[in-house]
Amino acid sequence: MTPKVVIIGAGMSGLCMAAKLQDAGIDSFTIFEKADEVGGTWRDNTYPGLTCDVPSRYYSYSFRPNPHWSHLLPPGPEIQAYFRQVADERDIRRHIRFGVNVTRAEYDDGKWRLTTADGEETFDVLVTATGVLRVPRYPDIPGRDTFAGPAFHSSRWDHAVSLPDKRIGVIGTGSTGVQITAELGGKVRALKVFQRTAQWIYPFPNPRYSALARRALSRWSALNGLPYRFWGLFVRKFIGRAPIRPGWQRRLIQAQCRWNLRLSVRDPELRAKLTPTYQPMCKRQVMAGHFYRSVQKPGVEIITDSIDHIEPRGIVTADGALHELDLLVYATGFDARAYVRPLEVIGQGGLTLDEAWVDGPMAYRSVAVPGFPNLFMLMGPHSPIGNQSLIPVAEDQADYVVWWINQLCDGVVRAAAPTEAATKEYNERMKTAMPQTIWVTGCSSWYLGKDGLPELFPWTPETHRELLRQPVLGDFDVRTA
Ligand code: NAP
Repeated sequence: MTPKVVIIGAGMSGLCMAAKLQDAGIDSFTIFEKADEVGGTWRDNTYPGLTCDVPSRYYSYSFRPNPHWSHLLPPGPEIQAYFRQVADERDIRRHIRFGVNVTRAEYDDGKWRLTTADGEETFDVLVTATGVLRVPRYPDIPGRDTFAGPAFHSSRWDHAVSLPDKRIGVIGTGSTGVQITAELGGKVRALKVFQRTAQWIYPFPNPRYSALARRALSRWSALNGLPYRFWGLFVRKFIGRAPIRPGWQRRLIQAQCRWNLRLSVRDPELRAKLTPTYQPMCKRQVMAGHFYRSVQKPGVEIITDSIDHIEPRGIVTADGALHELDLLVYATGFDARAYVRPLEVIGQGGLTLDEAWVDGPMAYRSVAVPGFPNLFMLMGPHSPIGNQSLIPVAEDQADYVVWWINQLCDGVVRAAAPTEAATKEYNERMKTAMPQTIWVTGCSSWYLGKDGLPELFPWTPETHRELLRQPVLGDFDVRTA
C-alpha cells in the first residue's frame, strides 16, 4: 500500500520531510501550510539585523549545499530565499496547499482525519512540522494597549514604519533583541533598550565569503562537503558540546564571553549594567559580533530599571521616569511550549494532546507520543535545539519517520505508537542527565519547563542521531496488517 501522508507546515522541517519522502520514492504526500509561502520562521521573521547565528555552510540541508551564502553567518533573507529555492527545485510546491489552516486532527478507525476550512480529509500518517518558536509572547505590562505609536512583536515587523526618524524602544535582550539593537544602534533618532536580564555575548565574527570562494563552490559542487563537515564539527563538538557537559569547550566559551565584555565595554557603569549574574550559556547563548559596539553609539541607551507601565507617550520605569517613544518593539520571545498547538490533536480513545501534555510537552525520542498512532513530530519536545543547527536534527528525525512510513508501504505495519513505558523511561533518563548541563546552573530562560528542568536534549547530536538510527520495535505498540 502507498500510505497517504500529510505534513503540517512548510518551514525548514516540513520541506526536509518532503524531500526525504521524495528521495524514498514516496510521492503520496500533502503539505498544509497556513501562510502563502514556504519558510516558516524565516518567512515570519524579517526584523532588521536578522541573521542565523549558526554558520551558513552547516545551516543547509546535507542534500542541498548552497555555494552562494554571502557570509559566515547567513542573513535571514538569504535563508528564506534558500528554502524557496529548495521548494522550487524539488517541485515540492505542487504538494503544498497554501493558505490552509488545519484546526483539528483526529485519529479515527486507523486514519487521521484533518479538519480545515475546506472540510475534512483523511490520511494514514500525520507529520507535524510546525516549528518550535512560532507563537509570539507579549509581555504582561500594564497599559500595553495604550501606546499611541506603532508597536509590534519582533516576528511581526511592520516595514511600512520608517525607522531613522524614530525614538525606538526595544523590550528584550535575547538573541532577537540583541540583533535588532546591533543593527539599529546609531542609525535611528534614539534607541532605548529595556533590559530585564543582562546577556552574555559570544563574539562571533561574521566575515563575507569572497566571490572567488563562492565561484569555486558553485563550479565544483563536490567541494561543498568540506565546509559542511568542518562547520558541522565546529558546531557539534564545540558550540553544541559546551552546554551539555563540563569540559574545555565550556571553559573556553565562558572565558571568551567574559573577555568580550571586558575588552569591548570600557565604561565601568555601562559594563556593570551589561554584566550578567549567571554563567555564560545558562540562557540560550547569544552570538553577536557588534552588539557592544552598537550600544556605545550616540543615541543608544540601555535601561535596566524595571518597566512599571506603558502609556500613550512611551514607557514609564519603576523610578518614575517616562521614556518617550515613537515606536515600540516587543523582542520578548515566544511560547516555547506551544508545540503543535493550537491545533487540536485527538488520539486513540479521545485522548487529546493537551491532556497528554498537561505536565508539559514530552515525547518518545522527540518524534512520537503514546496514544497517537502514526503521528510523528519534527522538532518535537526535547529536540536538540540550543545553539545547534536545527537542520541536521530535522534530517535525522525525518529519516526516522521515513523508516516507519516504509514499513507501512511494505504492508508489514498498519499503525505504530510508542509505549507509555518506553516514553517514560526515555524521559526519566533525560532527567538524570540534566544536572551536568549548564542550563540548570541558576538563571531563568525559555529552556526551563514547569518543573524547572530544561526541555532540551541533554546529550550530543551524535547521540541524537544514534537514538534515531534504527527504531527499537520493542518500544512500540505495533498493529500489523
Ligand atoms: P527570548 O530569548 O525569550 O528573549 C526574550 C527577552 O524579552 C528576554 O530578554 C526577556 O527578559 C525579555 N522579556 C520578556 N518579557 C519581558 C517583560 N515582561 N519585561 C521585560 N523584558 C521581558 O526571545 P528571543 O530573543 O526572540 O529569542 C528566542 C529564541 O529564538 C532564541 O533563544 C533562539 O533560540 C531563537 N533565535 C535564534 C536566532 C539565531 O540567530 N539563530 C536569532 C533570534 C532568535 P528575561 O531574560 O529577563 O526573561
